[in-house]
Amino acid sequence: MGLDVKKIKSDFPILAREIRNGIPLVYLDSAATSQKPQVVIDAMTKYYQFSNANIHRGVHTLAEEATGMYEDVRKKVANFINAKSEKEIIYTRNTTESINLVAQTWGKTNLEEGDIIVLTEMEHHSNLVPWQMLAAEKHLNLEFVTVTDDGLLNLQVYKELLEKSPKLVSFTHMSNVLGTINPVKEMINLAHQAGALTMIDGAQSVPHFPVDVRDLDADFYAFSAHKMLGPTGFGILYGKEKLLDAMPPFMGGGDMIKKVLLRSFKPNDLPHKFEAGTPAIAEAVGLGAAIDYLQALGMDNIALHEHELTNYAFQKLSEIENLIIFGKNNNRGGVIAFELGIIHPHDVAQILDRHGIAIRAGHHCAMPLHEKFGIPATSRASFYLYNSYEDVDRLVEGINIASDLFG
Ligand code: PLP
Repeated sequence: MGLDVKKIKSDFPILAREIRNGIPLVYLDSAATSQKPQVVIDAMTKYYQFSNANIHRGVHTLAEEATGMYEDVRKKVANFINAKSEKEIIYTRNTTESINLVAQTWGKTNLEEGDIIVLTEMEHHSNLVPWQMLAAEKHLNLEFVTVTDDGLLNLQVYKELLEKSPKLVSFTHMSNVLGTINPVKEMINLAHQAGALTMIDGAQSVPHFPVDVRDLDADFYAFSAHKMLGPTGFGILYGKEKLLDAMPPFMGGGDMIKKVLLRSFKPNDLPHKFEAGTPAIAEAVGLGAAIDYLQALGMDNIALHEHELTNYAFQKLSEIENLIIFGKNNNRGGVIAFELGIIHPHDVAQILDRHGIAIRAGHHCAMPLHEKFGIPATSRASFYLYNSYEDVDRLVEGINIASDLFG
């Protein structure tokens, strides 16, 4: 079923905003963060207006209500990604914290000097730096799957690296620069055959197409609420129960304990073992409303809409002289990074902003990937369910104006 984008746009108050002198906003920066529909904003406001209390601690009505709302979302998230149980859903602040949690708990206890972690050249800094920090501390070796000129992972290199018996393979489901959707299921299967565990960065995938962690057989899977219509400051780590159970806690404090003595403590059961301190309760409620909104539209429909829109944008952008798109138009998501002749990406973004169009310019937290392509920065347009063909036309118009100004 096609999406009714006009109706969807009207669900997002910010999309009715005008930028500068009455120019309507075209928001093409959803890979950085998505906009929020009124239902998400309302759910969070309603929580604060009627149910606000701390969770897991009180016996009064509000505390029970808040705890119920907070834990119901865990079931919703488990169902959304088809986890076996809500015990496998750990609340974090974002994808970045989810990856750091695995590095600092599973990584610290299970890796030893000389062990290998396989990453890729297309990773976001949040799937590089946590492993670099761990590698420096524990004297581990990091190996990298190379990226082809077409923006795909070189699977031959991947297979060769697996022959070195790495302990962990960690890579992104979809690149936030190239749009490439990696063959995750096949790569996880190969990793398991080689005896490695797998950590998948799902920051750009879970918001945009159906993800089934059991079908993928991922060991760990991370994503952020703010990129999927939910609030900032809230993220998810999925982990297989057996693995999470054997891992030590991440941070210490309230809620993550069963018993505390002056000199020792007994950790709580899953999932609370990893959730120290008062969490982001309203944000959990917001994510619940976001998932309801996404599911009402259907993740398959959202994926199809973005696929068709991206194809249209690819075709339109390819017609512009001196515009180079990074990545191949084949099994890709709605992220298009490009270069426009010798015009600096910041200038492109600034000129587009003058015409109400919000895109991103820079290295998009993927400096090594940009270095690989020999450029410091790109311009990036990214699409979501609320973007229309007219939005793409406005982008093309804006780019043509930038070209003319500098040409
Ligand atoms: N991984 C990818 C592929 C991303 O695109 C991003 C954010 O842009 C992240 C990880 C980090 O997400 P967050 O900043 O929400 O932790």
